[in-house]
Amino acid sequence: MFIFTQTHELQRYLQQQKAQSRTVGFVPTMGALHQGHIRLIDQSKRSCSITVCSVFVNPTQFNQQSDFDHYPRLPEKDTAMLLAAGCDVLFMPDATEIYPDGIHTAQYDFGALTGTLEGFFRPGHFDGVITVVKRLFEIVQPNYAFFGQKDFQQCMVVKKLITHFSMPVQLQLVPTVRESDGLAMSSRNLRLNEKERADAVYIYTALQHVRTFIGKRPLAQVLHEAAEIANTRLKTEYIAVVDATTFDSVNTDTYPTQGVALAAAWCGNVRLIDNVLL
Ligand code: AMP
Repeated sequence: MFIFTQTHELQRYLQQQKAQSRTVGFVPTMGALHQGHIRLIDQSKRSCSITVCSVFVNPTQFNQQSDFDHYPRLPEKDTAMLLAAGCDVLFMPDATEIYPDGIHTAQYDFGALTGTLEGFFRPGHFDGVITVVKRLFEIVQPNYAFFGQKDFQQCMVVKKLITHFSMPVQLQLVPTVRESDGLAMSSRNLRLNEKERADAVYIYTALQHVRTFIGKRPLAQVLHEAAEIANTRLKTEYIAVVDATTFDSVNTDTYPTQGVALAAAWCGNVRLIDNVLL
């Protein structure tokens, strides 16, 4: 596995590979890797000749400084996991490589995609995500990019980013990898203590309640019941059903066939998100 910290060195290597008609798959991450990330690497390896994984804790997508400060950073373990997974290239830039003109973001308005749910509760979050993903796409120029459905709204924002800037990259969505009790794997789970870890699964239990009863009971009732389930152990920030493509709200009881139920909830000091496709 080649490890690069400098943009120009990574680009020189990738140019040589592309000159030999090799396809490049890209997996952007913030590290503290787990099997969810490795699933993305596996998918990339299956469909591309070269797999590039980036590990960069992007300061501009954190809307709380304490979350950024406490975000787990495990570069040695990450390197070992990527090596074991057969990743070809690891890109570990520092902030000056990604933000050569200083750390700031552009502002983007993709309507409900950037304005609702995560966009509403984490102001500026998607400006940071779009800025860093656009920059990373420009550096790596991948043929395919692999993103996890765990961050479903992010996937749809990135899809929009690609069409908005006519970027020549194909987005591949990878299903959420879960622990045996159903909790979605997440780097932030490392920050949960034993009791919190047991409570955390209630976000998924609540979402399953929505999946079970949507269309059978009034939507408002189903969402209320789901929030009550989550709130027995967690502090729910939102639980909602939206159109999976536009993120427009769904007010009727005839929910769309392309619906998605999403939730965010606090488990102690850790903010969990999860979703299920309906
Ligand atoms: P992160 O390091 O949290 O920014 O995540 C990097 C990528 O891994 C994103 O595309 C995430 O959606 C994806 N990812 C994170 N957790 C999971 C999971 N449990 N299953 C599948 N993909 C995941």
